[in-house]
Amino acid sequence: MAPLMTDQLNTLDEADARYAVRVLDVVREYGSGTGKVRALDGLSIAVAAQRFTAIMGASGSGKSTLLHCLAGLDQPTSGRVLLGSTELGSLDDRALTAERRRRIGFVFQDGNLLPHLTAGENIDLAASLSGRRPDRSWRTELVERLGIADRLSHLPSQLSGGQRQRVAVARALLGRPDLVVADEPTGALDSTSSRQLLEMLRGCVDDYGQSVVMVTHDPAAAAFTDEVILLEDGRAVDAFTSASRDSVLERVGHGALGQEVAGR
Ligand code: ADP
Repeated sequence: MAPLMTDQLNTLDEADARYAVRVLDVVREYGSGTGKVRALDGLSIAVAAQRFTAIMGASGSGKSTLLHCLAGLDQPTSGRVLLGSTELGSLDDRALTAERRRRIGFVFQDGNLLPHLTAGENIDLAASLSGRRPDRSWRTELVERLGIADRLSHLPSQLSGGQRQRVAVARALLGRPDLVVADEPTGALDSTSSRQLLEMLRGCVDDYGQSVVMVTHDPAAAAFTDEVILLEDGRAVDAFTSASRDSVLERVGHGALGQEVAGR
């Protein structure tokens, strides 16, 4: 398994099923002229299928931009993104939206639930947008496992932050997506709720064979993952197995992220 794809661009097998998503020589620039910012600078990574991958890096290193590009929410200035074997850049807007709804589940920092819908309605929303009938027994299993079966008629404002995030996880998983994309999902949670959420994401990978990629600043969160990909200035500079919080901290310790974490 080679999470940094730099050496493999010329020998790429598009049908290679080991990868949930591959980002190949991607540049993403914002603005123009002297105000131009290069958020991703020729970045190449591979996110393994059926594994839990963390994307780490200091603020401004390009994590959110990468997540948006690999999930088809944003288009790179140049380079390729392969979701499985599907080249996202070859799809028109309508096809891209359909692929995204069908194949990617999202968990954002604040849950991103619609405030006027109940928890249950929020869970069903993504699946119904993608035009598929939710699998009722899978839905029941999910909400029971996530401990929200008795909260389904509540509005988001009547739930704790941890419960809202569990609803977001159920919504992301209901359509059995190829990839779950989580952007700082524990950023707004206390340590107990954070641990529970990370254990659930871990369980999605171990028990259901889900592929999960998560942006995080936090070495303790990264310790729940299989692998860390480290960004600096829009490039992938390191990739390593995430054994424990301390081992992650040691590995990122000398770079900009290490200083940021130490300063918290
Ligand atoms: P991170 O998620 O690691 O904090 P981002 O991907 O948000 O990093 O940002 C990477 C760089 O791109 C930063 O310099 C940021 O200021 C810049 N950037 C991100 N989004 C925009 C935007 N919409 N317009 C201009 N610059 C942006």
